[in-house]
Amino acid sequence: MGLVTDYDVWKEDEEVSVEKVVATIHANVANVKDLVRTSVSKLGGPRTCECASAARHALLTNPKYLKRSALKKLDLILGKYLKKA
Ligand SMILES: [Zn+2]
Repeated sequence: MGLVTDYDVWKEDEEVSVEKVVATIHANVANVKDLVRTSVSKLGGPRTCECASAARHALLTNPKYLKRSALKKLDLILGKYLKKA
């Protein structure tokens, strides 16, 4: 999802200011939060696609060469795959 903040240089009848961009960023964030809340509440049912395990082969480095601290950082996302390795 792209969050546009201003018209850049092509729109001649409107000046872009930092204040306007920041205000738009805040409005965009509020809109995205609403969108996520609304969208997530409509998700449901069992997953039938492979997205759920898309990260299974994301790590190319053999885990035995990773520091314990790196493994700890990866645990939340990849832990379920690393423990089988
Ligand atoms: Zn999917």
